Amino acid sequence: MQIAFIGLGNMGAPMAINLHKAGHSVKAFDLSQDALAKIKAEGLQVAASAQDAVQGAEAVVTMLPASQHVEGLFLGNGNLLASIAKGTLVIDSSTIAAATSQKVAKAAEALGIDFIDAPVSGGTGGAIAGSLTFMVGGTDAQLQRARPLLEKMGANIFHAGAVGAGQTAKICNNMLLGILMVGTSEAIALGVANGLDPKVLSEIMRRSSGGNWALEKYNPFPGVHENAPASKGYAGGFGTDLMLKDLGLAQENAIATKASTPLGGMARAIYAAHSIAGHGGEDFSSVIKMVQKKG
Ligand code: NAD
Repeated sequence: MQIAFIGLGNMGAPMAINLHKAGHSVKAFDLSQDALAKIKAEGLQVAASAQDAVQGAEAVVTMLPASQHVEGLFLGNGNLLASIAKGTLVIDSSTIAAATSQKVAKAAEALGIDFIDAPVSGGTGGAIAGSLTFMVGGTDAQLQRARPLLEKMGANIFHAGAVGAGQTAKICNNMLLGILMVGTSEAIALGVANGLDPKVLSEIMRRSSGGNWALEKYNPFPGVHENAPASKGYAGGFGTDLMLKDLGLAQENAIATKASTPLGGMARAIYAAHSIAGHGGEDFSSVIKMVQKKG
């Protein structure tokens, strides 16, 4: 199948590579020349623009940072929807506001284009391994169309509900992730301040009632998990500013629905302070620096 892939960052690049490895003809585009050079070295075709990428595509996949990028691409200056052929399937895997997904889907529907939201969980490790979890918002028929492509990039595919529902599921998950990374960081920092070995303490908690995803796969303390961003100077991974965006989406939603999310609000404030302190571009697990004893 001819696929256009737009947004080749930490997540998009490995996802596009998995579609290419599965035998699809992938034409990729990103605003960053570095990102394009990396993808070209992997044997994928590189487009001159988003408009060029979608020419002749039967499916379009987007993996962009935030709502404004998705809305700007499809409806804004570029007005990409106008360049996409009727009947094309568009899968947006970015984490954005549900209302933005619904707005773009409505404009797409008017042009006979199938647009679904399919945000992901699993981190860059999951994107590379092709083991992501997809949370899909759309109709049964749209999910059926998307499933063969999603299966090449992920291991778990959930139908959350109508368009936008995937985004709602995703912000609930990421609010919990943001909170548990702060809590895990606090617990490890407390143990280390008392002379415990972070590896031993992490293993004790992983196998006890405090066990969670950060302790399993994404330890915030350097050297505990060899492949985690913490062991690579907090480079790559899931940026603090992206976590801050997701916690903001969760709070906006909580305000609109009068939901009570006190820890989600506190976590947003902690990541905001961490970002302001200059760590916005580091992986979000660097939030441990907020609670670690200096010196
Ligand atoms: P990233 O910042 O590494 O990559 C985003 C890419 O989009 C960049 O290469 C940028 O140049 C490109 N881009 C921006 N606007 C563009 C445009 N108009 N046209 C073409 N390219 C454009 O971000 P990421 O970590 O890959 O995350 C992407 C999305 O996935 C975000 O919504 C994030 O919240 C979500 N997400 C990330 C992770 C993770 O672990 N990194 C996990 C799950 C979900």
